[in-house]
Amino acid sequence: MDEVVAAAAAVDWSKLAERALCDSCLGRLFGKVGHGHTNEERGRSVRDLAEIRIGPCWICDGLTGRYDDLADLVARRLEPWEFDTFRIGSKVDPEIAAREESLWTHLGLTGPEPLKAEVNREVGKRVSERIRKEPDVARPDIVAVLDTAFDHVDLQVNPLYLRGRYRKLARGVPQTRWPCRRCMGKGCARCGGTGKMYPTSVEEVIAAEVMRETGGTGHALHGMGREDVDARMLGRGRPFILEVKEPRRRRVDRVAAVDRINASGIVEVDGLMPSDGGAVVALKEDRAAKSYRVVMRTTPIVPEAKLKGALLVLVPEPIAQRTPGRVVHRRADTTRARRLLAAEVVGVDGDRAEIRVTAEAGTYIKEWVHGDGGRTRPSLSERLGVACEVLELDVLDIHDGG
Ligand SMILES: [Zn+2]
Ligand SMILES: [Zn+2]
Repeated sequence: MDEVVAAAAAVDWSKLAERALCDSCLGRLFGKVGHGHTNEERGRSVRDLAEIRIGPCWICDGLTGRYDDLADLVARRLEPWEFDTFRIGSKVDPEIAAREESLWTHLGLTGPEPLKAEVNREVGKRVSERIRKEPDVARPDIVAVLDTAFDHVDLQVNPLYLRGRYRKLARGVPQTRWPCRRCMGKGCARCGGTGKMYPTSVEEVIAAEVMRETGGTGHALHGMGREDVDARMLGRGRPFILEVKEPRRRRVDRVAAVDRINASGIVEVDGLMPSDGGAVVALKEDRAAKSYRVVMRTTPIVPEAKLKGALLVLVPEPIAQRTPGRVVHRRADTTRARRLLAAEVVGVDGDRAEIRVTAEAGTYIKEWVHGDGGRTRPSLSERLGVACEVLELDVLDIHDGG
């Protein structure tokens, strides 16, 4: 405490005039001096030295004496929520901030602490004792924002993130809920009142089971890319993170949720693991190569040997791919350079051929097969000199190293 006393001794207290300060507000003038003391203790130790009048505090008007009550208020507000970590934020009357800042300048102080910081810490300490949970400044589950002027608490409940890999076993299922184009989700004749283009989605199947465990006001599914609606997603599945907004409960029976998801017959996951918001950014940036199974019809029929020869030639050739005709109405018309990493014939049966292709992230495989009216060059169709129609497309693997 010697440093605090020394700092206080250097202040010309007569400049404070007749203003009264409480112990906390007095001590907080040296709040960043020394360690291991509360501001109230700092204030008590320099009060005699400063000869400051006792009375209604000129800075806080009694706020620092209400930390226990405010902590009770916050703890009650947190009661219905399940969480492990929290942080207190606060809104302090701007007039208080103005008063204390003017005093710092007036007295020429070098290490004062703002009241807001003290409120966050002192109320946080008391709330932590009451609810037996740890404050976490960096990544709290819940932030309780205390408005000290109105004794009002707003909660920001941070999302719950769960990661996994999904397999999509059925065609005609989008990755995320797809609102009806005509009614934009309200429900109309075209969508049979569902408001959706497709009855369900990977997101809806997974989220339904997780929401049952967690409650929450909404959800979002973040995928490492997405496959076409009519393509299955097989193999080890596609990495995803499910975000549950404002979950009531965070202790999820993940095994039970996975069992119910897998019983859908539409989507399968191997497991769900806790994740965080930062991982969503990394997931979205991943540029993993992907392997596909393609079943196509060639017109006229192409012998297997010719198909094999064409793939051998095409694998090393750089592909120039203009934005596909099917999406150019909603994306910029640009040309991207992509490469195949491998391609092989699985089998040929009359006009049907099955091939496996591994390509760089972002390659439009259907377009590479049929050529997209010359927008993708070279293409398998162009190389063979026949029309190629894609009948089935499946993603077999995502080479993300995970
Ligand atoms: Zn005060
Ligand atoms: Zn509709």
